[in-house]
Amino acid sequence: MGTTSREIRRIKNVFIDDCKFDNMVVILNRITLADNVIDRMKTLLKETKKHNLEYGFDICRKNDNLIMRNECHGTICSIELPRGCELDEKLVGDYHTHPRGTSLLSSSDMHVACKLDFSCIGSRYKKHENIICHVKRPNVNVSDCREDAIEKGADIMADKYFKKINIL
Ligand SMILES: [Zn+2]
Repeated sequence: MGTTSREIRRIKNVFIDDCKFDNMVVILNRITLADNVIDRMKTLLKETKKHNLEYGFDICRKNDNLIMRNECHGTICSIELPRGCELDEKLVGDYHTHPRGTSLLSSSDMHVACKLDFSCIGSRYKKHENIICHVKRPNVNVSDCREDAIEKGADIMADKYFKKINIL
């Protein structure tokens, strides 16, 4: 199991407000998810299916690279883990799977995602596998976002703060 650390290249000076598939590279606003990260997301979704448990990891940024950290398997994913990155890195995103349910943010997922640049969720709802990255819109007020997540719920409020990018 162990933490994987693989690079994702980030494209500088480019702002693309939508996703783009280019040799399996998906661009989330300014961040590029390389194929190895997407492959890991898919692999963990397969494990989710096999074991009916949640899987996930954090995504840290160091300079222009994104690094996968704190991969969790099974029940420990459901527990609030101390998460984080190395001192010279910043926590920018995460990925987790939903063994049951869709790839949409739950209210508690949204509460966490408000502090990140993006949060990706994989699901196998009704046997249809998909992965959606919820990318925070520009200029979001983090405390408003967190308050709305708890008080009004993600069903109603997620679209105001996040844009959905289909990865799979
Ligand atoms: Zn979730």
